[in-house]
Amino acid sequence: MINEIPTSQRAVAITFDDGPNAVYTPQVLEIFSKAKGKATFFMIGEQMRSHPEIVKEVAAAGHEVGNHTFTHPKLSQLNKAECLAEIEQTEKLIEELTAQKPVIFRPPFLDYNHETLTILQNKGYPMIGALNFEAQDWELPGVEHILGKSREAVKNGSILIFHDGYGDRSQTIEAVRMLVSELTSQGYQLVTVSELLALV
Ligand SMILES: [Zn+2]
Repeated sequence: MINEIPTSQRAVAITFDDGPNAVYTPQVLEIFSKAKGKATFFMIGEQMRSHPEIVKEVAAAGHEVGNHTFTHPKLSQLNKAECLAEIEQTEKLIEELTAQKPVIFRPPFLDYNHETLTILQNKGYPMIGALNFEAQDWELPGVEHILGKSREAVKNGSILIFHDGYGDRSQTIEAVRMLVSELTSQGYQLVTVSELLALV
């Protein structure tokens, strides 16, 4: 699990899970467009099928789309064929909608076992984590909590996790809006996960 990249460059990768979402993903796009930064979206296949136009918008704006499975299951509870189908169906849909093959993966609930790792390794997917799990934006802990725990996790090469799908994400949007503004004024470059991985 890659949570950060050792680099002397002032760059961080901000990621959003469980979208695309018709309400919140466009707000994230607007924040990053204003900041001239790039983000990474770990999308769920089912959600992509419901909102293909948002997937295209995300890719057209130069952001990265990562694989987050098709139905968001706990991969450790699936057999090998089911696990592979979750990954490959999503891969195919991302490729169809963005004309780019996804090259990074984040397991739902960060749940995996030895078999999952072997499958990902065979497919060449690095497994992407994050440093600010304590922010727990999905639990709606309040904007100040999300912001505070995320600030603590910021350094050169950090990967940060937020959610733009599944439920009310207004706290996330507010916290990310402030964080992005702070990071930009501190001279941080907001890059995609793949761009960050290339800095090693
Ligand atoms: Zn998820």
